[in-house]
Parts: sequence; C-alpha cells; structure tokens
Amino acid sequence: MASTPQPRAGSESVLETKAPAFSTAEAAAVAQRDFGIQASAHPLDSERDQNFRLRAGDGSEWVLKIANPSEDPAILDMQTQALLHIARVDPELAIPRVKTTPDGALFHQIDGSDGRRFIARVLTFLPGQLLDHASPHPALARDVGTTTARLGRALRGFFHPAARHELLWDLTQAPELRTRTHHIGEPGLRRSVEKILDHFEAKVLPKLRKLRAQIIHNDISCLNTLVDGDRVTGVIDFGDLIHAPLIADIAVPICELIVQSTDPIATAAEITAGYHAVTALDDDELGLVFDLVSTRCAMYVAIGKWRVADHPENRDYIISGVQEYATLLEEMQEWENDRMYAGLRRACAMPISIAVPDFTRQASDEENLQPMLERRRQRLGPELELSYDRPLHVVRGEGVWLIDATGRSFLDAYNNVPQVGHCHPTVVQALAKQAATLNTNTRYLYESVIEYAERLTATMPNGLSVCMFVCSGSEANELAWRLAKAHTGNAGGIVIEDAYHGTTDAIYELSPAEHGDGKPLAEHVATVPAPDGYRGKFRRDDPQYADHYATCIDDAVASLNARDFAPAAFFFDTIFSSSGIIVPPPGYLLAAFEKIRAGGGLCVADEVQTGFGRTGDHFWGFSAHDVVPDIVTLGKPIGNGYSMAAVVTKPAILASLIEETEFFSTTGGNPVACTVGLTVLDVLEREELQQRAAHVGAQLRAQIEGLAEKYPLIGDVRGAGLFIGVELVRDRSTLEPAAEEAATIVNRMRDLGVLVGIDGPHANVLKIRPPLVFDENHALQLTDALDQALQEI
Ligand code: PMP
Repeated sequence: MASTPQPRAGSESVLETKAPAFSTAEAAAVAQRDFGIQASAHPLDSERDQNFRLRAGDGSEWVLKIANPSEDPAILDMQTQALLHIARVDPELAIPRVKTTPDGALFHQIDGSDGRRFIARVLTFLPGQLLDHASPHPALARDVGTTTARLGRALRGFFHPAARHELLWDLTQAPELRTRTHHIGEPGLRRSVEKILDHFEAKVLPKLRKLRAQIIHNDISCLNTLVDGDRVTGVIDFGDLIHAPLIADIAVPICELIVQSTDPIATAAEITAGYHAVTALDDDELGLVFDLVSTRCAMYVAIGKWRVADHPENRDYIISGVQEYATLLEEMQEWENDRMYAGLRRACAMPISIAVPDFTRQASDEENLQPMLERRRQRLGPELELSYDRPLHVVRGEGVWLIDATGRSFLDAYNNVPQVGHCHPTVVQALAKQAATLNTNTRYLYESVIEYAERLTATMPNGLSVCMFVCSGSEANELAWRLAKAHTGNAGGIVIEDAYHGTTDAIYELSPAEHGDGKPLAEHVATVPAPDGYRGKFRRDDPQYADHYATCIDDAVASLNARDFAPAAFFFDTIFSSSGIIVPPPGYLLAAFEKIRAGGGLCVADEVQTGFGRTGDHFWGFSAHDVVPDIVTLGKPIGNGYSMAAVVTKPAILASLIEETEFFSTTGGNPVACTVGLTVLDVLEREELQQRAAHVGAQLRAQIEGLAEKYPLIGDVRGAGLFIGVELVRDRSTLEPAAEEAATIVNRMRDLGVLVGIDGPHANVLKIRPPLVFDENHALQLTDALDQALQEI
C-alpha cells in the first residue's frame, strides 16, 4: 500500500476532534428519515468524518457523509456547491452527484447521541476500481492528466467565499511544515525535506504567485480516482478544494503515480501531456512542475512523519507510504531538472529550446574548429563544401537568427529553406505532435495527405489539380522528368545554361551548373541562355530582348531534333538562381511556353526556390508571367526544413506515368510531412509572410540601390520579394565580374554577423534569400553590414 490516507483538514482541530461515531443502524435511519432513502448502511474508511455506503432496495447506491463537527460549514458548502457546479458545466465528468433532502436541502443537521450536532450529506456512490500506483500504463497516466485538466476547467468559473481557507495540504503553505520537520528522525531525510521547503519558499513560491489560480480539486490521488482498465471513470472526495495556482493540481497525481513507476519521468510526462491536451500549460507552469512534485513529496514525508509521531498506534499503516515518498524524494535529488523539463516539453509537443537568444552578445573567443573540421573531412570527404572562410559551427536557429557554438547570433539572410523562420514554434509543435501520434505511408487512408493536396492545389491555377509527394527537390524534378517523358513520348530536355535542378542521375544531366568546365552535356539535353538583360547577349536597353531570348528556345528545339530528339520538357526556375538571380523579363516565359509546346514538350516550373510567397507579389513565381505550367515542382521551403517535396500536375499527365509504372514513395507525403506542410501554409497565411516579402524585399532592394550610388562595385540590383541578387563588377562598362570582391564581402559580412551567399556563373552575385520573417530592422542591419564591407574593400 503506497498511499497513506493522510489527514487533509485545514485546521488541526479537525484532526484532533473526535470523528462522529454513529452506528450503522443510526446511519440507515438518517438516510431514510432525512433523505428518503431506504437502505442498508455499511461503514467506509474516514479519519476525521464518518462515511457510510448506502445500498437501497432498488439497487441504487449512495454515500452518507457525516462531517466532523469542527469542520467549517462554509467549507462543506463550498464542496457541495462545487459538485453542483461541475455537474452543470461538464455533465459527462464522473463525479458524485448531490442528493438533496425531500425538501430540497443540500444537507441535514443531525444530533448525535453524545449531544453534538453534525452536518449530514448524501452523494451518489461511484463504482469502480481505485487507481493503482504500480507503474500505470501510459494511456492511463495520460487519462489521469486529462481528467485533472477537465476538473480544473470545470471549476474555472466557480468561486466560493470559503475558497481561501487554511489547509494542511495547500502547496502554497508548504513552508509552514518546517515547524514539523523535527518529527523526521533520519537527519539526511530531514535535511532533504528542509532543503526542498527552503527552495520552494525562495525560488518557487514567487513564481507560483504569478500564475493563474482558481479553485482546484487538489487531491486527485490514487484513493480518489476510479479507473476501468486504461480509463479514469470517476473522481471522488472534494474535501481538499482550495483556491490555488492551477498547476498545483497536477502535482498530486504525478507524485502518486511516479512513486512506484519504473520510469517516473515518462509517467510524469504522460500525465502532463494528458493535462496539456485539454488545458495548454504555458512555459512558466511547465517549468515548475517538478518543483511542485518534489514539494508535494516533501509534504507527504513531513506530514506523514508527524502523524506517525502523533499516532503511534497507526504507525505501520502510515509509515509504509511515507517511506516510499522518502525514497522518491532522495531519488529526485539526482534528477536533472533540464532533462525533466525537456521531457515534459517533448511530451507536450512544445519546442524544447525556448530561451530567447541573446542577440546583444558578440563573438566570444573564436572556437577552435580544427578538430571538428578534421573529423568532418575524414568522414564526409574533403570535397564537401562549407560556407565562409571561417565556417560557422551552428547550434541553434530561431526566426531569422542562427546561433553559433560561442553563443553569437548571426542574421540569416541566406537560408531559404526555413521560410517561416528557423524552428518556428508552431511548425515544430505540429511536427512533434504528429510524430508522436502517427507516421506512416500513403498506402493507408489518413486525412492530412488529402487535405494537404487539396490546400496545395487550391493555390495553383485550374488544371494543376493532382499531387505526388516525395522527399527532396531533386526527387520532385526526377519525377517531373519521368512524367514528361511518359506523357510526351519524347526524351529530350531543354534547360537554362547554368541551371541547377538537383542531384539525381537524370537531373544532373539537366543541371549544367554542375558540369565542370568542358564536360559536355548529354546528347538529349539542349540549353538556352538565361534571359540576362544585364550582361547577357541581349540587354535590357533592347525592347525586344525578351523575344530574342525566347527565340533561343527555337534553336534548342531544332538542335534536339537534329540529334533525333524532341523535347519532353523545358525545366526552368522562375528566378534563375544559379544563373545569377535573373528575373525573366515580361513575355519571355509566355513565348518560351508556346515554343516548347509547339515542339511537343511540357513546361516544368521548378519552384523549389521561388515558391511559397518568396517573390512577394505572387505565391508562385510563375504566376508573375501569366503562364500555367504543365508540371510544378516544390521543395526546400515546403516543410520549413522538414525533408519533403511535391510535384503538382494535371491528371492526364499523372495518368500517363501511372499507365507505365506504379508510383510510391515510402516517406513522401507521410502524415508528419503533410502536417508540417499544412502548418507552413497556415503560418505563411497567418503571419502574412508573402506580403512581408513584398514590402521588406522592396525596401531592401531600394536600400541596396542606394548603396549602388556610393559604390560603383555594385553593377546591378535585381530580384523579386525576398529573393535578391546584387551583381558586383569591377567596371560598369566592361562588366568585369568582381568575384574576389564578392567573396571578400560575403566573408566580411559574416564577421559582421550577417549571412549572405554568392551565386552566378561568374561567382560575383551576392545572393540574399532570408527566411520571410525578415523585417525592416533586419533589412537595415543587412544594409549597414554591406555598406561597411563595401567601404572597407
Ligand atoms: N531545384 C532548384 C531550383 C534548387 O535550387 C534545388 C536545390 N538547390 C533543387 C532543385 C534540388 O533540391 P534538393 O536539394 O532538395 O534535392
């Protein structure tokens, strides 16, 4: 027996006053005379009151409660009113119901044979097994948490003038127990209890006082919780109701269920998660859970030892429970608070890291990266590139910030994958929650994949109505390539010079950017120049330059035909990133589409970089060009960092592939991916990030154009939304690329705490693509750093 029925009265007088002593015959008489229940009476355990189980002839069962005469009638009234309130607001919650007298009174005063007067009440009897301490099943522990939260919710709107009465088991009064610790004979245990009570008073209570408070049950213990298998079927005994911090309610069940649990932290986490699912706990509340549990545990020990001293006749009965809490208390000293806190947060699907980065902190001593670099070289190969001369050892991301191992924060204006910001809490929370619920594959029915496909296609033009889910941009393009070949029966590909579409074998052939100098492209691939109006062969000053570039498509089709190929697909980004952040001029894509389709090919918009609002004015890059692609591929920002990607196409195109072969991707479109995808869409919408990309992007471009007036090195500033290219040239007439200068600037900006990148065939274009939570102040910070770097060069 782990749980010791403990005194729970507020005033000691209740404990010291003799309990009522009615016989069963007298109890049965009270039931009949005063409550109209013809029943037999059977005594139930109670230390301070007297309770009888009544069995009526019609099979109904009741509890007759005769209160200790020193109990304040106002407190008894509070308990009765609370039961009535809960029954009204959450009728499904299994708690005892109040039986009134035939006159409608909530209680009846009865006279004892000893001349004292007693308050008698009748409640319904709740059948069920008592909750067992021994390692409860996780589902049961969770339901205990859920039930605790439901009771708290039901009591939320309840108040009673007696609510702030004195109660021995009031956690907020725990420090008072220091006057009792001399009853703890073992010096070590006594010190532990005192230490916890001191800590509680100094560190916990001040925080606790700031938390939401209300009337709580305050005694959801094993003896007061009825269960059936893994479910809680009822809660009884409202004798410890008190106005207290809401979170205190959870300390009792946690304490009682971890005392014998083989994995106490996991059990505590289950209870907390169950609670959190009904009533979301905030960071401050979660942060106190273990302190409250250890304080409650110390209370068990202090009160238990005192009771043993006062009631040696009950020694064995009381002592067994106290001993278990004493052991738990000693064990808890060893637990690492951070780990427990992280465990609770994880169980509640809350982001683990919540500390706000200290943005004011500057680089401390540079970390010695050599050992780490060496290990990386050894195992990932020396060729695997790292950004910046002084690589960043990043340990955390938050919003637009990347934080390195020395604690320094870098403004991230480069990473376009965390579209809604690094580690966006809503996305992380949704991801964790789904990962803790279900993750499987698309061969099962589940809602999220359908909903996600519906949401994605709703953002696309009519006709682009079916989705295929994979895990990376490369895979999405690979699938697009297969779709195009299957649908057209052709095998040729047309891509932009310097395009990059991915890393698979087929897509490598369609990614000239990856072909080292002189390495020929495959025979089935033809390239066209990016419509670069700044340094390309047709320039912006020619009003026809878009058409001239489009004409190159005819040449590419002819060149394929000459090699006995016809185009299956034209792959294009809607901002040509690896060509140096080139925005296609108006009319170019429209004309290109016509030519490709005339040549028998499909048009594949690679939105891996440009999609999801980055370009500001439109959700998809292609929408700015009045074209409807045949296939759209999505990746990078789609999951804000979770590996996922998609292909959106027309049903007839999908059908062509499926006729040839089955399509299945084991992890593509899994429930976690789809939940993340849906949440990213929600956050983009809720935080209006596309709109932000438009106006912050315009502001940033204008600021950089301002710098161009000061620094002739800036040859061109271009882009859309928060996808910006700054082309550096040594001479504005010869356009000699300033590649070394670009590298120097990017590295200097890194040292100044701002991260940007480089792209383009001449490696002279600064690439700026921050998470879309980038705001005006971030734009100013970037411009300042760029200004300084340019000035120094
Ligand atoms: N298309 C474009 C335009 C890209 O920029 C990239 C990645 N840089 C890819 C496709 C390939 O995506 P992933 O790396 O996810 O395979």
